[in-house]
Amino acid sequence: MKLLSVIVPCYNEEETVEDFYNEFIKNQTFFDQNDLDYEVIYIDDGSTDHTVDEIRKLHERDPKVHMVSFSRNFGKEAGMYAGFQHAKGDYVVTMDVDLQDPPSLLPEMFRYITEEGYDSVATRRVTRKGEPPIRSFFARRFYSLMRHISKTEIVDGARDYRLMTRQMVDAILSMKEYNRFTKGIYGWIGFQTKWLEFENVERMKGTTKWSFWKLLLYSIEGIVGFSTAPLAMAAILGIIFCVVAFLMILVIVIKTLAFGDPTSGWPSMICIFLLVSGVQLFCMGIIGEYLSKAYMEVKDRPIYISKEEW
Ligand code: UDP
Ligand code: MG
Repeated sequence: MKLLSVIVPCYNEEETVEDFYNEFIKNQTFFDQNDLDYEVIYIDDGSTDHTVDEIRKLHERDPKVHMVSFSRNFGKEAGMYAGFQHAKGDYVVTMDVDLQDPPSLLPEMFRYITEEGYDSVATRRVTRKGEPPIRSFFARRFYSLMRHISKTEIVDGARDYRLMTRQMVDAILSMKEYNRFTKGIYGWIGFQTKWLEFENVERMKGTTKWSFWKLLLYSIEGIVGFSTAPLAMAAILGIIFCVVAFLMILVIVIKTLAFGDPTSGWPSMICIFLLVSGVQLFCMGIIGEYLSKAYMEVKDRPIYISKEEW
């Protein structure tokens, strides 16, 4: 009998924990037919509501429900990592608890791995229906930027809903970086991935746990973690500015020699001064961003701290 581990990160999800389980368990006949056992690992990401109590209730009903509870909110990435560490399954799948990742897709995903020999089956939504337009706009810009500046393939609209073989999970676990961007990690480790597309499903209950700010910081994580192009861009900007400055010096010298030296151009000098110092600060910011990530990696802090596990 093979084991399927389901990793479900939850942050203040008391409303959806049970609904998720009920929906997931509808696959029971499929599991029976395929001689498959399951374990559901809820990761409580430092929830401040009754999420833990809800998970405990489920555990009493079904001992195959497990929980790892964090000492505080460490973020979804840390949650998924904890899930991978605790999963014992031959197959592992990560899913959102709000049913935006339909459990009804599982049989199809499973078939691609067992019958067609894929290492993982990932999902992407082809629409962003129900999402605020500004968020969609920036998400699209982020993915197209990533396509240009990163060698690692990162797919637009990719969800974290993915079924993987044990081998692939072990590869993910071998990447112990502190600044985690799983979508980049999937691309980096390689393996054969089948992409399934589906229409966006709106969150069934509760509210999104990702603020715009949190998403923005997460996208910076992705860029800094999987591309060094911004560093090169900073250097190129510096070169361009040097060339422009040399040309201007040349023009000014010739102008002064030919036409004398009227003291003018003070306002334009201030403009250039502001522009150049702005660019310098911007480039320092880019370097600082990489430095801060390196700083966090060097500290080698744990990715999460768990308070309770069973
Ligand atoms: N989540 C988490 N920790 C966080 C934020 C979110 O574990 O700090 C979980 C959340 O409970 C949900 C999943 O990540 O299961 C996706 O979050 P959400 O549905 O709020 O994001 P959206 O689908 O709106 O992008
Ligand atoms: Mg959601």
